[in-house]
Amino acid sequence: MNQRLRLILLWLLPIGMVVLISWQILGNSGTSSINQANTSIASRNSAVSRMSYGRFMDYINSGRVTAVDIYDGGTNAVIEAIDPELDNRVQRIRVDLPGLAPELINKLKEEGISFDIHQAKTTPPALGLIGNLIFPILLIVGLVFLARRSNSMPGGPGQAMQFGKTKARFAMEADTGVKFDDVAGVNEAKQDLEEVVTFLKQPERFTSVGAKIPRGVLLVGPPGTGKTLLAKAIAGEAGVPFFSLSGSEFVEMFVGVGASRVRDLFKRAKENSPCLIFIDEIDAVGRQRGAGIGGGNDEREQTLNQLLTEMDGFEGNSGIIIIAATNRPDVLDSALMRPGRFDRQVSVEAPDIKGRLSILEVHSRNKKLDNVLSLEDVARRTPGFTGADLANLMNEAAILTARRRKDCIGTAEIDDAVDRIIAGMEGQPLTDGRSKRLIAYHEVGHAIIGTLVKDHDPVQKVTLIPRGQAKGLTWFSPDEDQTLVSKSQLKARIMGALGGRAAEDVIFGHGEVTTGAGGDIQQVASMARQMVTKFGMSNLGPISLDNSSQEVFIGRDLMTRNDISDAIAKQIDNQVRLIVKECYKETLQIINKHKIAMDKLVDILVEKETMDGEEFRSVLSEFCSIPAS
Ligand code: ADP
Ligand code: MG
Ligand code: ZN
Repeated sequence: MNQRLRLILLWLLPIGMVVLISWQILGNSGTSSINQANTSIASRNSAVSRMSYGRFMDYINSGRVTAVDIYDGGTNAVIEAIDPELDNRVQRIRVDLPGLAPELINKLKEEGISFDIHQAKTTPPALGLIGNLIFPILLIVGLVFLARRSNSMPGGPGQAMQFGKTKARFAMEADTGVKFDDVAGVNEAKQDLEEVVTFLKQPERFTSVGAKIPRGVLLVGPPGTGKTLLAKAIAGEAGVPFFSLSGSEFVEMFVGVGASRVRDLFKRAKENSPCLIFIDEIDAVGRQRGAGIGGGNDEREQTLNQLLTEMDGFEGNSGIIIIAATNRPDVLDSALMRPGRFDRQVSVEAPDIKGRLSILEVHSRNKKLDNVLSLEDVARRTPGFTGADLANLMNEAAILTARRRKDCIGTAEIDDAVDRIIAGMEGQPLTDGRSKRLIAYHEVGHAIIGTLVKDHDPVQKVTLIPRGQAKGLTWFSPDEDQTLVSKSQLKARIMGALGGRAAEDVIFGHGEVTTGAGGDIQQVASMARQMVTKFGMSNLGPISLDNSSQEVFIGRDLMTRNDISDAIAKQIDNQVRLIVKECYKETLQIINKHKIAMDKLVDILVEKETMDGEEFRSVLSEFCSIPAS
């Protein structure tokens, strides 16, 4: 049974119990008053006995009765009577009466016996009926609800009963409303895909000269680069319906469900052609068959086979084009890439600075920007950001602007939003004290090395305001998108990362260094190792010694070839250590030489909490000359 169903059942049970209990209370309320009265009397006097109506009359006649309480419309009574043989001790006795007879009342009045008639709190009949019916009604409603749920839920029992006729879980949009204009910064991909629009709009142009229209296009690229958006834009430009579903939705619990979904999807698509089918995360179904941990997955393989069959089955001119997206083309089954299937690959990469600028322009279309805000600067500050990151950035900045009750997005909001996306939420600044000074020295250490080592990116700002995990941060602004990084740049980065620890070391002593440098040191290790194993930048020479890139991965061979001998591994370790040691030595030298400048910078930083790069450099230049970078 499906998980969600079971949950509902579990919920229904306690509800049922509560209803059952209240139903009983309601149902009994009509007769309960005498029992309640009895129990209260019983607790006062344990001797509650019964007597017949006749004996009760005798008691009245002999004057032993002192009080009578009549209940339930005169069918029950509890009397108090004295027993002359037992020192006139008061007894409470229950009597069954034949009904509320006027003679009895008259008699009691005559004898001067105090009596009381208690009206029974009977529930009105209608209410009683409802009380009795609530539970069964709830049960029925619950069952109906369950039945309906399970029918609409694929994989539920309803599904199991009607296997083949799965309700396909794809979405169809008659008009996506997205145009190529909405996708920016991926111009090559756009050019490749513009042709697809023509395939959809004017297939005759191609078929008339005997060209076969391609059936599938594979979009390859990291998450957030706009693959889904591009697919929607194609449909939007061509004005055709957009069928979309995610690869993971094909793979189901039951073998064969995914395959029948594929059949359904293509059937619906054929009915609506020309149209576009978008399969997101195709690697979820399209992995190499019969490989990986645990052998094959029957369901996935069947689904993939069905997909391949369907793709072979329709003709190029049937007006359906399939676009699939993945960020792992390496794991896809080669059968998918064969001509006639996804034979076109379009790569969608993270945008460069120009691309970022145009994406920023797209996403600031409906936003109010400050006149002095320069989107070029924003693009420069955000290397590595994908389209989705940039969209998020503009949105965060707009939220900040609203929160600050400004009427247009300014540089400050953008900067804060960038910081937030890269480094996390801003925390409360530390109060002045030893640890604040230590963090200040640590950050100034990074910043000094970053400024004085020639090949390092310039400092953008230094701050003691915590963000995310970091207690303080030093930001560097990369000059441009760097695709090639030189050995001396890598060394400069290692030294910059070591600057924080070196400053703690020099100012506070060996014994006082803190865990705050943990992250820096991890970075240093990975940079140094890559220099040795990946980039051939050590004494071992230009040999690739990298065996880590072939991750163990379902869908690939389980074992990675280990072509590195123990002896080489040892040499690698030695080289890594050598690089780090040399860098640290140089770093310590620089820090030692600029202790006085550091004291001054730390004083300013502790007071102001944030220093921008300009200010940092101008203070530092009072003490030494700064190399132009
Ligand atoms: P992917 O499918 O590659 O993971 P999406 O297409 O889902 O990425 O992108 C998510 C969002 O990010 C889009 O809805 C859009 O707002 C924004 N976005 C991503 N790439 C771009 C781009 N190149 N141009 C404009 N906006 C983009
Ligand atoms: Mg997507
Ligand atoms: Zn640090």
